[in-house]
Amino acid sequence: MLNFDQKLDNLATLALRVGVNLQEGQRLMLIGPIEGADLMRRIASQAYDTGAPHVHVQYVDGQMGLIRAQRSPEAALEEFPEAYRDMVLSFLERGDAYLRVGGEDPDLMSAAEPQRVAAMVRGQRRVMRPVSDLVQRSHMPWSIVDYAVPAWAEKVFPDLPRAQAVEKLWDAIFAACRADVEDPLGAWREHVAALGRARDVLNGHSFAALHLRAPGTDLRVGLPDTHEWESGGQYAGVNGEFFVANIPTEEVFTAPHARRVSGTVRASKPLSYQGQLIDGFQLTFEDGAVVDFSAERGEAVLKGLLETDEGARRLGELALVPHSSPISQSGLLFYNTLFDENAACHLALGRAYETTFVDGTKRPLEELVADGFNQSLTHVDFMFGSDELDIDGEGPDGSLVPVMRAGEWAF
Ligand code: ZN
Ligand code: ZN
Repeated sequence: MLNFDQKLDNLATLALRVGVNLQEGQRLMLIGPIEGADLMRRIASQAYDTGAPHVHVQYVDGQMGLIRAQRSPEAALEEFPEAYRDMVLSFLERGDAYLRVGGEDPDLMSAAEPQRVAAMVRGQRRVMRPVSDLVQRSHMPWSIVDYAVPAWAEKVFPDLPRAQAVEKLWDAIFAACRADVEDPLGAWREHVAALGRARDVLNGHSFAALHLRAPGTDLRVGLPDTHEWESGGQYAGVNGEFFVANIPTEEVFTAPHARRVSGTVRASKPLSYQGQLIDGFQLTFEDGAVVDFSAERGEAVLKGLLETDEGARRLGELALVPHSSPISQSGLLFYNTLFDENAACHLALGRAYETTFVDGTKRPLEELVADGFNQSLTHVDFMFGSDELDIDGEGPDGSLVPVMRAGEWAF
């Protein structure tokens, strides 16, 4: 049995060695919450030990975002410093590894008006677009790992005292990230290989579309002719090294065709978006775009998300996760996309990943868009998977092949 310190060290090791796969001589840009200093310092120490010449550290205070959302004059809400973007760009363009420690109070922004939060997010997204372009193209290695901040733990375990809730959330994080074993790097090697086998089967079929069926869901998701399934990790453009963008990751994913999605999908879990909760929601698509939507909670937040731009009404990702995945089996609702998306099959509204197209990072964007690539300033995952989900793949000749039954791989 490992103790807490050993597991937290393992998590730092996984973030660096599996996540961004930091190489000797490579610099690191590290962003994370002030509450997560303990993990941030361990990551920085290990980065220097790995041979990083410099670790650029930036702490984020979620409460400051709330203060601004509540008090800034309306007209200034979309302001975001271009100088900050230029600094980040200068690091990432030369190939620094980009590691984010996440973890925030899922209800952080619920005390602010949704339209004001949406304006802030819109402004930041617009200015930071060149940075998200580098991320989505996998120009440099990047990764996300989460820290059990107390307000988050209390949301996941509302009946426990704070200290116990934090302890329980850490247990869940360590288990989901395979940080609670003696040889976490070996465990990840095996895990990435298993994900790769499912990916290869799906790529072998070259499906024209997937049909998703579950209570409240009947959706046909067309796939671009040049779509490619991806899993586990990718190769960074700048150094060719394999990196794993999400710790944990359980998904095998590809790009839906931006103009060939029709039917209705009902979310199977609440979506925590920018510190606000959207729950009990469904979306209806025609020719790839959302034409109708409703939510039992957070409908205004959902509306704001869909109105981010034209592409926010269309899909950029379809990801398959077996219902038996360890995160799903924990039975917990994390109110956190990194964990909840890896517990269930999901779709994303917004921008697609170039890497989910054949030669996607080398071909001009207009070509990808013609193939069905969705462009947007945003990318937001929502979950539709459950043990009641059936999926069929539609072959190029129209024949149907079972892909999932009752939420599990059918092959
Ligand atoms: Zn995903
Ligand atoms: Zn996603």
